[in-house]
Amino acid sequence: MRSIAYRTVFFSFIGIFLFASLDALIVGRESKSDNDPGNPNINKYAFSMLFSKFQKVVNQPLKNSKPVDIFLCGDVMLGRGIDQVLPYPSEPVLYERYMKDARGYVEVAEHKNGPIPSPVPFAYVWGDALEELERIGPDLRIINLETSITKSNDYWKDKGINYRMNPKNIPCLTAANIDFCSLANNHVLDWGYSGLSETLETLNKSHIKSAGAGNTLAEAESPAILEINSKGRVLVFSYGTTSSGIPLSWAAIEKKPGINLLRDLSENTVRAVKEKVNESRQKGDVIVVSIHWGENWGYQVPRSHITFAHQLIDEGGVDIIHGHSSHHVMGIEVYNNRLILYGCGDFINDYEGITSYEQFRDDLALMYFASLEPGTGKLIGLKMTPMQIKNFRLNRATKADAKWIADVLNREGKTLGTRVQIHADNTMTLQW
Ligand SMILES: [Zn+2]
Repeated sequence: MRSIAYRTVFFSFIGIFLFASLDALIVGRESKSDNDPGNPNINKYAFSMLFSKFQKVVNQPLKNSKPVDIFLCGDVMLGRGIDQVLPYPSEPVLYERYMKDARGYVEVAEHKNGPIPSPVPFAYVWGDALEELERIGPDLRIINLETSITKSNDYWKDKGINYRMNPKNIPCLTAANIDFCSLANNHVLDWGYSGLSETLETLNKSHIKSAGAGNTLAEAESPAILEINSKGRVLVFSYGTTSSGIPLSWAAIEKKPGINLLRDLSENTVRAVKEKVNESRQKGDVIVVSIHWGENWGYQVPRSHITFAHQLIDEGGVDIIHGHSSHHVMGIEVYNNRLILYGCGDFINDYEGITSYEQFRDDLALMYFASLEPGTGKLIGLKMTPMQIKNFRLNRATKADAKWIADVLNREGKTLGTRVQIHADNTMTLQW
């Protein structure tokens, strides 16, 4: 058996050698006849061709040399005040303890930063982020959609805060070419089960994929499958936990609609996620787990989140953990060459002018651009572009604000083993 194996390896190598030599000679001859007569480096070139051919055979995971580029961000809250300035505002009635009219949030924001034109064009809220998306050109755009899209009046009682955007404002999402919305969060059922159905239907009609909520448990736990031309598939799973404020009763069960809720972060749960991933995974797929977890404020990453993220990577074969719920950015980790964003922070909200947690600067938002090695899902690089939410739109952050975010990421990244380098244009790159 062993001698057969040796013989196979030996003849394979000879085969590669002959093929590469022939190939290199042909290339060498072509370059000679074109514009490089008598190039003394031809032999050197032929040898390097041979070597790179051999390397390509050995490095199987690189089936495509172009990285898979994914844009990710945190909470996109298009309801309430934001919905009121879009072309088709919902009925403004609110059932909050202090605010009874959604237009009140517009007034508070205008009081702080000046008038907001109304109605604004659908693309308005994305502001400078659109230009940045265009400049970097990611293959996929992934967000956590923290609102229901519905005309339903069936608000969830005793919840306190209920976000909805009129379905006629859906061009707001398509204007930014959003490919995927994570729905396992604490606002998708704010306007009842009819609100959830209409959200799913509206996204579907607009060809925006989603995961994490559904009309049945099977629907809620199914991943979104996103195909990237010539680069393969990206599967996005969406999960939520009660620590982010999701009521336990929102969990989808068999035929009951709801969200894909994790009861805990135990080893049994890791196994259950792993099984779900394995049911859908094909060789070479990139796996993203988008998860709504943890409190709204505070930088401390719970030990249970770290352990769960590591286990999903080690045992579940997950390539990106896309964490959200915190209203501000949290520390970043790279574990076994896989990216963990513990908390992406808010990306679009109507909190302008609301005072109480200013020290966390929830007006500062971050665009994450992750590059992964195709075929293996390993992180090649992470670029970030800071923005500021002002006048209900994203604006490029000032130098001082960019430095403020970089300082937070460096401070919080210390125990996680990461740092960020800030560049002249205020963008950042992760170092690990
Ligand atoms: Zn939330």
